[in-house]
Amino acid sequence: MLAITGPHDTPAVMKAVHAHLPKPHDPHTDLIPPQGIKLTPGHYAYLKIAEGCNHRCSFCIIPSMRGDLVSRPIGEVMQEAENLVKAGVKELLVISQDTSAYGVDVKYRTGFWRGRPVKTRMTQLCENLAELGAWVRLHYVYPYPHVDEVIPLMSGGRILPYLDVPFQHASPRILKLMRRPASAAKVLRRLQGWRQTCPDITVRSTFIVGFPGETEAEFCELLSFLEEAQLDRVGCFAYSPVEGAAANDLPGAVPEEVKNLRKEKFMLTQARISAQRLKRKVGKTVRVLVDEPGVGRSSADAPEIDGVVRFSGGRAGEFRDVTIDRADQHDLYGRLQ
Ligand code: SF4
Repeated sequence: MLAITGPHDTPAVMKAVHAHLPKPHDPHTDLIPPQGIKLTPGHYAYLKIAEGCNHRCSFCIIPSMRGDLVSRPIGEVMQEAENLVKAGVKELLVISQDTSAYGVDVKYRTGFWRGRPVKTRMTQLCENLAELGAWVRLHYVYPYPHVDEVIPLMSGGRILPYLDVPFQHASPRILKLMRRPASAAKVLRRLQGWRQTCPDITVRSTFIVGFPGETEAEFCELLSFLEEAQLDRVGCFAYSPVEGAAANDLPGAVPEEVKNLRKEKFMLTQARISAQRLKRKVGKTVRVLVDEPGVGRSSADAPEIDGVVRFSGGRAGEFRDVTIDRADQHDLYGRLQ
């Protein structure tokens, strides 16, 4: 057997081996198409880039279940993404427990894709995914300084101008109890910077209300943060203890009815902000990816968690332009062009 390849290119090594030694039949994998198995509709797919997490948020048990961050090799991630796009996927949703930490565990090791060296790092991942010609949407990004590097890719139209950043709270004391590294003031400055570079950016986040010990004043601090941050999309959970989480030992459990009232107040505040922000899109023409006839999503709408754009007509999986006639708190309504 003679082949020129190396440890950077597992598929080429395996091809050379299988040329002489046929691959044994494996009933568990041989029925799987080369692009893998997806449980989402054909036109979008989740691309998992890492497993586990180096944070230790006190309300979460993921690190104790899945361990510290383990990044998938960049070449493998890019190959999967390329296979998905070849199989007809139009939108890749990049996910992990902390997408911005991609590659930290392997010291941003250099891998290979299409024979080129590529670093195991979020920015380089985004630059390379952008070459595939599909929509690329980033989920679960921490507001670290290096996240600023991907914003120009968004303003340049290479990846979707969308960031899903779970802030969880704004009060410094609650964030500390949650063992979250962020600070509200820094987050606001960072948001401002992102919007300066990319005015069309959509920022989604999630928050927890009623965390143990949360006072009325700290909850109000969170509401003021919402007013100031003017986020586009927001999810809110009333705190509920998870078996095995460190937060269970914290004093000052918030009564259920207070948690629910806070959640309601939080959602009402955000509904007003979202409605105002969506209204600004009326009269504009936006590109959508059609999920089913009459329903599509723009760059601002991740599947399942955000709103949609409604119109009449269209076929699942096609990109269309829609002129927006009206908006409500979640969705836009318009006409296909
Ligand atoms: S909440 Fe997210 S960032 Fe925090 S420990 Fe859990 S997985 Fe990690």
